[in-house]
Amino acid sequence: MELPSRPKGNQLLPPGEMTDIRRRLRLLASKHDIATVIACAFDHRTRILPFIFADLRMAPGGVRAVGSALVDSGMTKTRIVLQQWNKNFSPQKMRLDGRIPDLFLVSSMHLHGEECDRLIREANAIDEASRPLIIAGGPRIIYEPWHVFSANPDDPWGADVAITGEEYVLLSLLEVLLSIKSPRETMRQTFLRARDSGALDAIPGIVYAQSSSTRGPAEELIDTGIQQLLGDLDELPSPVIGYSLLEKPGKSDKLALHALTDKEVRKYSPIGSMVLTSGCKFRCSYCPIPAYNQRQHRVKTGERVAAHMGDIAERYGIQFFFGADDNFFNDTARTMDIADTLARHKKDDPKKFGRLLYATEATVHDSIRMQEHLPKIRESGLIAVWMGVEDLTGTLVKKGQSESKTLEAFKLLRSAGIAPIPMMMHHDTQPLISWGTNYGIINQLGVLRKAGALYTQVLMLTPATGSKWYEETFSSGLAFSTVNGEEIEPYRVDGNYVVASKHARPWMKQLNLLIAYTYFFNPLRMLWAIFFPKSNLPHLADETRPAEEIAKLPWRKRAMRWLKRKAKTQLLDAAIQCVGMAGLFHTYRHTIGWMLKLVTGRIERAAAPPISRLPMRDPAGGPAAHALPGTATQVQSTRTVDLISIEPAPQLLQLSLASGMGAERSAASATQANQPTSASGPAPESAPARRAA
Ligand code: SF4
Repeated sequence: MELPSRPKGNQLLPPGEMTDIRRRLRLLASKHDIATVIACAFDHRTRILPFIFADLRMAPGGVRAVGSALVDSGMTKTRIVLQQWNKNFSPQKMRLDGRIPDLFLVSSMHLHGEECDRLIREANAIDEASRPLIIAGGPRIIYEPWHVFSANPDDPWGADVAITGEEYVLLSLLEVLLSIKSPRETMRQTFLRARDSGALDAIPGIVYAQSSSTRGPAEELIDTGIQQLLGDLDELPSPVIGYSLLEKPGKSDKLALHALTDKEVRKYSPIGSMVLTSGCKFRCSYCPIPAYNQRQHRVKTGERVAAHMGDIAERYGIQFFFGADDNFFNDTARTMDIADTLARHKKDDPKKFGRLLYATEATVHDSIRMQEHLPKIRESGLIAVWMGVEDLTGTLVKKGQSESKTLEAFKLLRSAGIAPIPMMMHHDTQPLISWGTNYGIINQLGVLRKAGALYTQVLMLTPATGSKWYEETFSSGLAFSTVNGEEIEPYRVDGNYVVASKHARPWMKQLNLLIAYTYFFNPLRMLWAIFFPKSNLPHLADETRPAEEIAKLPWRKRAMRWLKRKAKTQLLDAAIQCVGMAGLFHTYRHTIGWMLKLVTGRIERAAAPPISRLPMRDPAGGPAAHALPGTATQVQSTRTVDLISIEPAPQLLQLSLASGMGAERSAASATQANQPTSASGPAPESAPARRAA
């Protein structure tokens, strides 16, 4: 199921609201001493191609953005722990400023779900009186928030609240809590009070658990609806601060006294991720991005992008960025505003901007459409574009790509000095090799390599939460529920494992993925690449330091720099082959066992997507915006009634009564939802408006 949109005209926050809430929060935060730990969940079993190595060298943007927003809003005691760097981190042992933090935030993607749950369970075990308020967020929670609330009354664990939106939703929640917090209360106690009074119901974008007894296990989830998006990304706090909050990598289960120093940041995170734009005009059925963005395209201005990149480079020494764009070339004017500004800064201030390079994602269709602008875009520092080619023949999905168009886009990009990186999607009907056509995955990789692909990713079509095809992959019997008696663990749902296929021998699809990668990354190709590299792109060997600086160098140093630059273009392709082969070794190590299970084990297929086992509803009792079809909206509780007290007969009877708790609660919430949350709080939203969303 795709996430629903808010009503037309109401998808975006009013201009200036994000800036305003940051200002309001600073005033509130100055009256409280809040310590926060933000954990980024990471399952180390996901360390295979195509992201292996980059996964440890790029501090994720999401948690950095949240950390930046908190510090910017006055909550300066904030630390970010990346599980990719701190595998043994234990929430039970975390201390910040000598105490258990007031807030514990966990961000997770779906494939890191097991670690996310472990972190939350551990935090639950902290003594009730000092337990932090546990807030879950990230892509896993945005689409399926119920995962972080246990539905088992005998094993109750869970986050206190799940955020199904972006930074603004978190800041809104904190604004409500800080505006009513008494100095004697913990943040969690304030949260429980706010929750029980219905004060949270006017914040679109959160899900919390409700129970009939005061502190009992979760019985139902209240979903306050779809978030309002920030339209002007310039209103986001500067991402520069986030790097200074990172916990130093290590084996300890505790937090260090201090975060990484500025000088250490580049050593551990030489790649900086950055939001430039958000949203895409295409509507691929397997992709959740357009619906998540409520069909909006949101951007930062060129000046803002340049300021952030320049500041990060100056403070931490990071020179290479990866744009977290869905389709960077989506809108010509907006792309060119960023490209023109960066190119101008490179020219005017080569000391600060001269060495800055970046890579991002864009479509084949838009790469061709932007052809006249590609030289200027390269001038701005763009050196690689990841492109969702998926299937050259367009059989699986059509989004303006075909063999001829893809090759044209490759030619245009390469001649401008930009490396195209194809992202391929293998599927049931695609053979390994085809004769006479280019339908086979090996044929397609051959064509793309010949056209100049330096790197690639080949993933299997997998159910993607929040996409149009999601339920169908289950109801059509494509998705597996168990293989060899083993449930499909979240870390396997990343496209690298065959977990959905109607092929008679699904293990062959798994083998095809390995063969496809082996075809692309192998010693022969590496040797060939030393002499005939695909990395001989225009401008790759250009001098990046200012001409006047170079002129001052002795001729030997100048000659060495020239040699180094030439060697880089000559050997880069072979070096990438080496990286690919090292990644492939880990990919074999992890996925070959799964392939054997597919060969020998029994495959059970799922009949329906995994819905929330807890009922979900909106505060007014209507269907929850984030619930999948089939999710209950009312609590079906079983109460035991001892009839001895009302009947003379001595026998004990049990009656199962379907309680109307959901409806009772909704009446109360509907009233409360229309009350202002605080004098300075966000404008209350009516329950009908949320239902419509
Ligand atoms: S082009 Fe890419 S980002 Fe856009 S909808 Fe398709 S898969 Fe998603």
